Amino acid sequence: MTDPHVQIPTREKVLIIGAGPAGLAAAAALKALEVPFDMVDRARHVGGIWDPEREDTPVWPAMDMVSSREFTQFEDMLQPVSFPEYLSPGQMAKYLRAYAAHHGLTDHFRPRLAVRSARPFEEGVWQVEFSSGHIAVYRAVISAHGISERPHRPDWAAELPSSVRVLHAKDWTGPDGLEGQRVLVVGSGQSAADISVDAARRALEVRWSMRTGHWVVPRRIAGVPGDVAASREPSALGGLNARIAETVVARAVGRPQDAGLPRPAAGLLEDSVIVSDDVLDRVREGRITPAGEVTGVGPDGGITHLGTGHHAGHLRYVPDLIVFATGYESGADHLPQDVVPRTAAGDLDLFLGAFARGRDDLVILGQQRVSGGALPLLVQQADIAAYLLAATREQSAGAPSSAALEEFRRLRAGSESAVPTPAGSSRGGLRGRLSDALGARPSAGRAIAPAAGAGEGLVPAVDRGTQLARLRAVRALFDDAA
Ligand SMILES: Cc1cc2nc3c(=O)[nH]c(=O)nc-3n(C[C@H](O)[C@H](O)[C@H](O)COP(=O)(O)OP(=O)(O)OC[C@H]3O[C@@H](n4cnc5c(N)ncnc54)[C@H](O)[C@@H]3O)c2cc1C
Repeated sequence: MTDPHVQIPTREKVLIIGAGPAGLAAAAALKALEVPFDMVDRARHVGGIWDPEREDTPVWPAMDMVSSREFTQFEDMLQPVSFPEYLSPGQMAKYLRAYAAHHGLTDHFRPRLAVRSARPFEEGVWQVEFSSGHIAVYRAVISAHGISERPHRPDWAAELPSSVRVLHAKDWTGPDGLEGQRVLVVGSGQSAADISVDAARRALEVRWSMRTGHWVVPRRIAGVPGDVAASREPSALGGLNARIAETVVARAVGRPQDAGLPRPAAGLLEDSVIVSDDVLDRVREGRITPAGEVTGVGPDGGITHLGTGHHAGHLRYVPDLIVFATGYESGADHLPQDVVPRTAAGDLDLFLGAFARGRDDLVILGQQRVSGGALPLLVQQADIAAYLLAATREQSAGAPSSAALEEFRRLRAGSESAVPTPAGSSRGGLRGRLSDALGARPSAGRAIAPAAGAGEGLVPAVDRGTQLARLRAVRALFDDAA
């Protein structure tokens, strides 16, 4: 085993940037393969955004996760059964700290240390500058910096006069102080729904501006967590039929358009659904007023937006507070832009969402939004990263390149749709899509916000089932060789 107390020069180590779920998964995998590493985070503790005491976390203490316990755990350390089916951020924080302790990862962790820049000189030589001013050379970088570093606001936000208070969802902490206030929440996804519900607890009025309609699904279906029910043979949901699934969901919570929200743009099985037990009730009660897309901003801060349902045309609203639940932009300020080029659509050009093309010494974890719990995908990416970095370490020590490494490089050079997956494993059929839709959070996670459009540079949403199947197939190359 790697002994962290034995001094190993950093130039022989991998640097993990970020100690959230992705960084921890990478650390556990590197440790298992005895690949030396350090892990840093600007935060005081491991756990990433799942630390309600952090001032810069996009989660707030009163929120519940949208993925159930079963889909929010690492296979090598399950959640305690005493935890509820849907964890609070505080419980997730406890779990992640326990995971780090269980694997002895805290010995490798340097808290309160940010990476200002990491740039490669040549393959296997990275110069890293830390917030402490210290500079070190590492052999490889796993950047697990998360998806909430770069909050996105629509262009019209720049036209708002200073008299209007604005907040990004990342800075939402709860509804205290909103008594008597008019609040406009902007965004089509999970965070917008959750914040609208939270704001409606105190605010005088909440208006929710959605550009795109989405299905709303409850956390439990037929008494079982939605993602668990959907991952089994979905008899609980009424059978393998899209219309039936939509009917079951509509019976459970109602259709968004019947409550006055925009009609979902996609069928339930293709949609980035919103997981919520409350939002449709709050809309029906009139505590949240649905609104369409914002079309203009007046000099007094008056907002013009489209109506929804039978309220057609342009409507005007003067809010005291606007909350932008409009997602996050992809990328990393600490990495040079030319190291990770973008595709024509504006997305980071990473194989399987994580692996830099043409180089073996850079992995960027978790830069995609998926429906359902994010951890299963992060674990697959992290395991492949560890295999890759173990293989290149052996190679630089003089061992011949392994067949698995060569095949990985060959696949990485091409389109990921060419990754051969066992028949049926992509769960791209109804069952898989149902599972993804109901396990969801708006894509990517609790989703964080409105669906990313091509070219907008927002963190992209991917189909979880398809991506997991490809990742498992690539991981199997290395598993089989081990
Ligand atoms: C509001 C919200 C709700 C969500 N709900 C769910 C849910 O219910 N279920 C689910 O599965 N997923 C959910 N997600 C998705 C969430 O992103 C994942 O659960 C998970 O946190 C991703 O882990 P990560 O390690 O990639 O990123 P993070 O948890 O974001 O951790 C990244 C870490 O990197 C650190 N970092 C960044 N840059 C630097 C730097 N330059 N130097 C040093 N440290 C740095 C940050 O401080 C942070 O600690 C949600 C996301 C959001 C935003």
